[in-house]
Amino acid sequence: MDTRTTYIDRLTELGKLNSAVALLTWDEETHMPKRGLALRAETIGKLSRMAFELSTSDEFGRCIEELEGRDDLSEAEAASVRVMGKEYRRNKAVPPDLFEAFTIAQSKSQAAWAEAKRASDFERFRPHLEEIVGYVRQFAELFGYEECPYDALLDRYEPGMTSVRLRAILEPLRDRLVPFVDRLLAEGTPPDGPALHGHFPIDAQRAMARTVLERIGYDFDAGTLDDTMHPFTTRIAPGDVRVTNRYLESNPLSGLFGALHEGGHALYDQGMKDDLYVLQLADGASYGFHESQSRLIENQIGRSRPFWTFFRPILVGAFPALDRISAEALYGAANRVSRSPIRVEADEVTYNLHIMLRFELESKLLNENLPVGELPGLWCDAMECTVGVRPASDADGVLQDIHWSGGMIGYFPSYMLGNLYAAQIAQALREEIPTLDGQIAEGDFAPLLAWLRERIHRFGAIYEPSELIERVTGGPLSAEPFLVYVEKKYSEIYDLWPDRS
Ligand code: ZN
Repeated sequence: MDTRTTYIDRLTELGKLNSAVALLTWDEETHMPKRGLALRAETIGKLSRMAFELSTSDEFGRCIEELEGRDDLSEAEAASVRVMGKEYRRNKAVPPDLFEAFTIAQSKSQAAWAEAKRASDFERFRPHLEEIVGYVRQFAELFGYEECPYDALLDRYEPGMTSVRLRAILEPLRDRLVPFVDRLLAEGTPPDGPALHGHFPIDAQRAMARTVLERIGYDFDAGTLDDTMHPFTTRIAPGDVRVTNRYLESNPLSGLFGALHEGGHALYDQGMKDDLYVLQLADGASYGFHESQSRLIENQIGRSRPFWTFFRPILVGAFPALDRISAEALYGAANRVSRSPIRVEADEVTYNLHIMLRFELESKLLNENLPVGELPGLWCDAMECTVGVRPASDADGVLQDIHWSGGMIGYFPSYMLGNLYAAQIAQALREEIPTLDGQIAEGDFAPLLAWLRERIHRFGAIYEPSELIERVTGGPLSAEPFLVYVEKKYSEIYDLWPDRS
């Protein structure tokens, strides 16, 4: 049989296994009764192992090697071989025994993290994290890198990105952002406006989330909306992209922005053509790029003034008690800046500072063998220096995120890259569609979605992120559009005079 046909056959099988795992996982997080967990974990484990064996089989490796040498592949096929080849080599690099030992350590470590966080006691978690970091250091060596071990991990989430390139973007960002936050909070006037606290029935919030998803263009004939603890979006198969969300009875903005964020991810997934799915190119250009699509809808659109002109009647329709609040006051309420020690509660302006400190600590763990025991102290110092607040406890400090407990080191920068890509994309978008704000104010999201489909979504992972951002915006990734955006927007909201120094 022709190698190309064999390759596509194997990818098709892999797609089916991945689809089953995605559906079982989605169900576990949304509808599954508690007592179903034990067998579900085993079923997912079995199917994942089958997918892993398939994607690391010698036959599959031979297909990739042969196809890498051919010049008669389509652009999408060549991209598929590039993506799968990278993954194949990475998977082959880790001996199965080592990987199995890691997965056992991983589940113990995650349980220990949850326990330690509840008790706000890093010491309980420390030995587990030491073990996990030990494995991750080994993986970095096995995956290989050019400049530093951290790059081997970063590349899994953001192909082509390196610490040196990231630092060149991050340092100027920090140098302008930190003093800006200081000025904003010292000299600016916070927007007055209501604190949206009270009693907002969940049913009404859920219906509102559905409405907003429909309005931005999420296709409910190819998707669903369900409740979960930690919101996520998952593609089960072509024509089946599911959003999950969470609501707080005391505050309707949490569920609204959750829906917009996940809706942005879902529009990206729904915008990738079916043939990309077979080629395993339908996960997007990178985690950072995926996050750019959620941040664009959540922040650049959802936290904009025209959005609140459009959305106020919908909010008031759901909660008539809010009738006296103007669109301008709601816009202010959606855009408050504060020094929170918690990443997931951070606003647009301070969010990236939370990521910078994680990146610095992760780099030190990998590149300089920083002892794990020094993390809590360094975390607090860095938080005080950048965000300007000292966490009162380990739970509000080094223990707040789950990522490290599962060995997800190198992932955090994706969040920041998402914000930066989103600002740069939004700048290009507003230049090319000057009437965008008027359209949003009227609730017409079709031109926005058409632009995103045409310029970004339909390409999936055909291009690496550095190439895609150039194609979309005409230049390489830079922090400048983000800085210009936050400085202009928040100086205005906080009534801050331009800095003449
Ligand atoms: Zn996201």
